[in-house]
Amino acid sequence: MAAVAIPNPNLHFNHLIACYPILSTLASHVSALDLLNLALTSRANHAHILASPPIFAKLRRSCVCDGHGLRDRQDRTGLYKDYSKGYTPPGPRLPDGGEDIDSDEEIEVRVFNRTCGEALPCVKCGVNVCEECRYYPRVKECYSQSCRPHLNGAWQMANVMAMCTACDEKQEDQLKGRFLSELCDCHIFRRWICSKCVVEEHKEFRAYRRNFTAPEFNPDEDVEYKRFIGTSWIQDHQFMRYLLCPCGDKVPPGFRLRCTWCKRRHLPYEDWHDEYRQVGGDRMSWIDDDPTYPVWVTDHRRKYPSPYPPLRYNQLVHEAAQTNPEGAGV
Ligand SMILES: [Zn+2]
Ligand SMILES: [Zn+2]
Ligand SMILES: [Zn+2]
Ligand SMILES: [Zn+2]
Repeated sequence: MAAVAIPNPNLHFNHLIACYPILSTLASHVSALDLLNLALTSRANHAHILASPPIFAKLRRSCVCDGHGLRDRQDRTGLYKDYSKGYTPPGPRLPDGGEDIDSDEEIEVRVFNRTCGEALPCVKCGVNVCEECRYYPRVKECYSQSCRPHLNGAWQMANVMAMCTACDEKQEDQLKGRFLSELCDCHIFRRWICSKCVVEEHKEFRAYRRNFTAPEFNPDEDVEYKRFIGTSWIQDHQFMRYLLCPCGDKVPPGFRLRCTWCKRRHLPYEDWHDEYRQVGGDRMSWIDDDPTYPVWVTDHRRKYPSPYPPLRYNQLVHEAAQTNPEGAGV
C-alpha cells in the first residue's frame, strides 16, 4: 500500500508564504492589490512580501491584471463614463474641466466579447495591466483629438506646463538617463498605463492650469492676475494664456513647454503646427481603417455623407469581428 502523506496540522497558510517558491507561484495567480492586501494581514506576511522592495517588485511583476479597466469599459464607468448621464469624470475629453455635453456618443460595440489578457507593468505605477484594461481612448471622443497629448485641432492648451529657468534645469537633470528620447514622445494610444494613473495625470494638469495659468486679462483692472505680469504666454484656443512655473516664478521668454505626463520638453512651440500635420491630425488609425465603423465625417466640401454609410456586416458585430477581423465584406 502506498504511503499517504499526512498533512502537518501545524503548517499554517502563513508558513507557506514564508516559502519563496510557493509565494511566487501564489503571486502569479493574484492581482498586485491582492498581494499587497495579503502582505498587510500579518507582521510575518509583511516581512516576507513587502519588507524587501526588490522582492516585492519581482513578485508584483508576475501578478495578473485585476480586470478593472475592462469592467469600466463594459459598464461605462470611470474614465469610460457615459457623458450623457450628466457626469464629468477626470478624463481626457474635457481637459479644462468644463461641463459635459448632452449628445450622442460613440460606444464600443465589441467590448463584451473581451477578456483580460497577458499583463505588462503600467508605465507610471508598475502594476500589471493587460491590453484590454490599459487606458487609451477606445472610441473617437472628439474630432480634434490627436495621438500626441499636447496637440489637438482646437488648439487648446492640454497636458503641458512651463517652468522658470532654475526649475527647468533641475527637471532636466532628474530626467537624465530615464528615456531613450530626450524630447516627449508620449503617444496617447500606445502608452501602457492604468486608468488610476491616468486620473492622477489629469488631476495634475488641471491643478497646474487652475493655479499657475491665467487667461487674457487687463493688468490695470485684474488685481487677481497681477502675479502674471511679465511672464510668458501661449495661445489657448482663440486666446492668450499666461503661464507661471509650478514654483510660482515667472516663465522667461524663449521657454520650452514640457509634457505634464513624462515631464520631458516638447519641440519649440513654433514647430507644433508642423508636428500636428506630421502626426496626422485627428486620425485614429484603428478606428478610421476599420470598415465595420464607417467614419461619419465631412468631406473636403464640409459635407457629411448622406445617407449614413452602410455598415460592412450583416450579423452581430462581435461575430463579424471573430469571423473576419478585417470586417470587410462580412
Ligand atoms: Zn485586464
Ligand atoms: Zn498605473
Ligand atoms: Zn520654478
Ligand atoms: Zn510626454
